[in-house]
Amino acid sequence: ELYGILEILERKVVQLEECRIILLTKQDLELAKALKNNEFKLYYQPQVDLKTGEIVGAEALIRWISPDKGNISPIEFIPIAENTGLIVPLGQWVLKTACTQAVDWKLAGLPPLQIAVNISAQQLEHEDFVADIIDILAQTGLDPKQLKLELTESVLVRNINLTLEKFKQLQELGIEIAIDDFGTGYASLSYIQNFLFDILKIDRCFIKDITQNHKNSAIVSAIIRLSRQLNFKVIAEGVETQLERDFLAHQGCDLIQGYLISPPLPFEQFCEFYSNRK
Ligand code: C2E
Ligand code: MG
Ligand code: MG
Ligand code: MG
Repeated sequence: ELYGILEILERKVVQLEECRIILLTKQDLELAKALKNNEFKLYYQPQVDLKTGEIVGAEALIRWISPDKGNISPIEFIPIAENTGLIVPLGQWVLKTACTQAVDWKLAGLPPLQIAVNISAQQLEHEDFVADIIDILAQTGLDPKQLKLELTESVLVRNINLTLEKFKQLQELGIEIAIDDFGTGYASLSYIQNFLFDILKIDRCFIKDITQNHKNSAIVSAIIRLSRQLNFKVIAEGVETQLERDFLAHQGCDLIQGYLISPPLPFEQFCEFYSNRK
């Protein structure tokens, strides 16, 4: 009787595994097709220096404009690309496009800006990651000081020694490293202890209701103070109101990014927005 049950279970496991393979392959193919057909686009969201009020940088955020399904959020397709490994060529496309466009807006007569690019753990772990970045910088002619990489805390738990080594290589080139969504991962403070960042990016969940929520305001002012003492620049993401901006300026936050300044914009609109502010 027991063997009968085991046999049924085994068959179910095989069926489930087959289902999983088919599902992954279908999504993988869709994404791969989208990459081949140029269905991705980068949007840019300005980052503003709180002391001068000037735009000093922009974060590149990927969008999938699918002809059959419309606009698909990176929150939906980045995890799929990470599962299937397609994040590596997709991430390379992002880096190359962002660096090319950062040079383009200099060519358009706009003052140089720092460009922030989001990087997934798998990309960083890829053995050619640093070499590919060096190639892209050489091909586009972008100054490495104008490139900033945003990594989330999940990157840091995977292979500490390898990550430390890659950070060092990138920073020696002049590239800045930002820790994204700070405070939402696990054991954040031990990362600060072990890794050398240039910038700490406070997650939007702490910025929300900062002026009313006593816990959030305490957390944010503590993160800003810690960053200053450890010599990190600090940026707040998801700033939506003037009250939030005032609070952050008063606490000594360096940079802000959020709907209060502008939502992420397509390249052409971003150039227009930037030149109008100048
Ligand atoms: P993130 O890097 O933390 O980016 C910030 C997200 O907050 C963006 O969502 C942005 O549009 C949104 N946002 C900005 N300001 C505000 C605001 O004032 N209020 C609110 N409610 N939201 C704001 P988006 O563009 O949907 O991107 C989501 C996430 O997808 C990003 O989070 C990042 O983790 C990932 N992602 C985006 N582009 C790339 C990419 O090229 N490569 C990789 N690996 N991940 C990416
Ligand atoms: Mg980011
Ligand atoms: Mg973030
Ligand atoms: Mg976030």
